[in-house]
Amino acid sequence: MELHAETQRILRSLGVASADRPDGLAVRSPIDGSRIGAVAADDAASISLKIDGAQRAFLHWRATPAPKRGELVRLLGEQVRAHKANLGRLVSIETGKIFQEGLGEVQEVIDICDFAVGLSRQLHGLTIASERPGHRMMESWHPLGPAAVITAFNFPVAVWAWNAALALVCGDVVLWKPSEKTPLTALAMQALLERACIAHQSGAEKINQLVVGSAEQARPLLDHPQVRLVSATGSTRMGRAVAAQLAPRFVRTILELGGNNAAVVAPSADLALAERAIVFAAVGTAGQRCTTLRRLLVARSIYEPLLQRLRALFQRVTVGSPLDEGTLVGPLIDGAAFQSMQQALTRARADAAWICGGERLLQERYPDAYYVRPALVAMQRQSEIVLEETFAPILYAMPYDTLEEAVAMHNAARHGLSSSIFTNDLREAELFLSAAGSDCGIANVNIGTSGAEIGGAFGGEKESGGGRESGSDAWKSYMRRATNTINYSRDLPLAQGIRFELD
Ligand code: NAD
Repeated sequence: MELHAETQRILRSLGVASADRPDGLAVRSPIDGSRIGAVAADDAASISLKIDGAQRAFLHWRATPAPKRGELVRLLGEQVRAHKANLGRLVSIETGKIFQEGLGEVQEVIDICDFAVGLSRQLHGLTIASERPGHRMMESWHPLGPAAVITAFNFPVAVWAWNAALALVCGDVVLWKPSEKTPLTALAMQALLERACIAHQSGAEKINQLVVGSAEQARPLLDHPQVRLVSATGSTRMGRAVAAQLAPRFVRTILELGGNNAAVVAPSADLALAERAIVFAAVGTAGQRCTTLRRLLVARSIYEPLLQRLRALFQRVTVGSPLDEGTLVGPLIDGAAFQSMQQALTRARADAAWICGGERLLQERYPDAYYVRPALVAMQRQSEIVLEETFAPILYAMPYDTLEEAVAMHNAARHGLSSSIFTNDLREAELFLSAAGSDCGIANVNIGTSGAEIGGAFGGEKESGGGRESGSDAWKSYMRRATNTINYSRDLPLAQGIRFELD
């Protein structure tokens, strides 16, 4: 079926009435470059109206008991469960990720909804021993306000859900700016959320609104004084611009930015397991995950044989339409991504022993889409291009002699998102996870760098932004902490024993 017709059919089935306005922002599928819909973009006036609506909704929502807020997220999870196959297919059509990964992304939405429902009964603070007699101290957690959530093209629904499910149970309301490359999945999620709101019967309207458009068109969203939190996922370049724009107002930020993730393969590694993990992490989502494996540090004794195995696997991996069963690598998002991949390979050539793959495929069948053979590059040193994030399937491999050298090469990257070691040596594994090991927000043993579960806090250090979202205690970023001291005595002892007698 033609992609345009299929997209519109899926959207209608999910409750989106119109997603093909002749005057709207055109949306293209990376599968064949064809137009699959068009959406109306926001301007400064409509954004201002939406923020006013969000502020009004917030006053109501923050007074709604948290478990009741959790009930709405439960209803959203049920909607997503019921429409998983259609949503997964839409994600695949709009981003180009293979259908299995589209389904996996939708499953993440379901998982974080389940997590947030439980969380809605666990937003608890501490009680703290006071140094003063007849006093009690405690922490209270309060809703923060309207939260802007900016998302990247490569996880068009999961990243929103990681933020929105938590923000909503925490009592915040959300203004969601999806990537201009993937607004259709956002329309679909919004429609499902609206259905959940109706079933909730609490008048919970405008607790999540879409702000559609380019970065420039969304600028007023970040400048508005009522926006109290900005959770922004995307490139480090975007994070730098957003952080600078928000700094004068000291707005709270959760920045989830780029990655330049590495894996260390030690001599004792289970190589069959490592190979599978490496290939999935390097070429999955066509190398367009923030956690994609981009650097491989291999003990010299096993470097040559491992690289020859990987070379064969990279050559064999099936590249094609993400909707075809059996495809493992779909297209790049657009021509600009293809150009940046080619430029990176040209720069790498000077310091490479050899390069395999990287060429464009299926050009005759899909002249307006960009399919590539994933590239494996044997580097003689960790040159500047290796230290940059190129958002495409390029894996740079380098040998090492000692684990200390491997860790130093690993930590030389400016990003600090995800990392792995493949080893069966307990000492090596523990060193890698220790304070002297990987400096990333995510450090794994015997699994790849990508494919995190929602139960853990997700995020990275250094130029990866420092934000944490999803599981563990990431919810605290969406709330305001108040420390309360209650005096239930008849005296007024001062802290630190200070004497202050008026007579
Ligand atoms: P991008 O930075 O081009 O765009 C991301 C989003 O930010 C889009 O919605 C875009 O419109 C918006 N944006 C860009 N500049 C902005 C500005 N100045 N003000 C406000 N909004 C702005 O990124 P992309 O190409 O969509 O995604 C790929 C990048 O995202 C990669 O670097 C990848 O590593 C990163 N990423 C990170 C994570 C994470 O959790 N750390 C997850 C997914 C993607």
